[in-house]
Amino acid sequence: MRVMRQEAARAPLVARDLPVPAVTGHAVRIAVAACGVCRTDLHVVDDELPYVPRPVIPGHEVVGRVVEAGPEARFAPGDRVGVPWLGWTCGSCEFCRAGLENLCPEARFTGYTLDGGYADTIVADSRYCLPIPARYTDQAAAPLLCAGLIGHRCLKLAGDGRDIGLYGFGAAAHIVAQIARFQGRRVHAFVRPGDDRAAGFARDLGAVWAGPSDAPPPAPLDAAIIFAPVGALVPLALKAVKPGGSVVCGGIHMSDIPGFTYADLWRERTIRSVANLTRADGAEFMDLAGRFQIETHTHAYPLARANEALDDLRAGRFSGAAVLVP
Ligand SMILES: [Zn+2]
Ligand SMILES: [Zn+2]
Repeated sequence: MRVMRQEAARAPLVARDLPVPAVTGHAVRIAVAACGVCRTDLHVVDDELPYVPRPVIPGHEVVGRVVEAGPEARFAPGDRVGVPWLGWTCGSCEFCRAGLENLCPEARFTGYTLDGGYADTIVADSRYCLPIPARYTDQAAAPLLCAGLIGHRCLKLAGDGRDIGLYGFGAAAHIVAQIARFQGRRVHAFVRPGDDRAAGFARDLGAVWAGPSDAPPPAPLDAAIIFAPVGALVPLALKAVKPGGSVVCGGIHMSDIPGFTYADLWRERTIRSVANLTRADGAEFMDLAGRFQIETHTHAYPLARANEALDDLRAGRFSGAAVLVP
């Protein structure tokens, strides 16, 4: 199988032909049709996480078709499936038993501690794979697998308020904005000061307001979700939410959060992070995505140009999501 993998920290990915792993038990072998490029992939290749195994094959927004199934697999050859970030959990720790498998200390993650989808083939544990609603093409479905799924979990944990702020208007926010609108909420988009293209993109997707991240919203928000990996946004978002409002940090990595006055937190405001996803989140989100058309804005790159896709994401050269197509 052909993969693009990183063999040393911060080095470019290189193309390699590897033997296909054995397909046993719950495993399925999937012919990859599309794999989204997530900001987490940048944190992996840029060595910004506490531990990165190498060589590492990134990619956890994988869409493809099953071509071989192990004897206990829950999908059959021909099925179209998605492979998300959560790839395996222990099933027996206190978190797994409490329905919080996203916090399992033994969890393994696709494109990080498990081989990912920057490849023409992936072997995955079918118990963690998700069916893809028929209304989406392979390429359009890829960003749903993380940007959509994690975005959905962030929105759930932000509560039921009507006025939602989104800091950083990239792949996750462009999907969350559409879900929030579908739920009858009002989206306020905060973009890098001067990034008129991102502000226009947000308005096109129905944001009622779009402005620079250091500006206050027109009225206090019920909740804010921060997708940009910028800790300095946390105190700004706290100032933007009402008493009782929450600030949800959706990324796996963020720069340090500067100090702020207790008055900004006072009156029952909360700050929390969102880590990973559970299979229940996956099932719930795919059901939602099947009920209305989420328009994902994608930019296709051939698999061999994975480095270029990562560079373009790092530099903010496109709106929406990059997708690798083998
Ligand atoms: Zn566990
Ligand atoms: Zn991701």
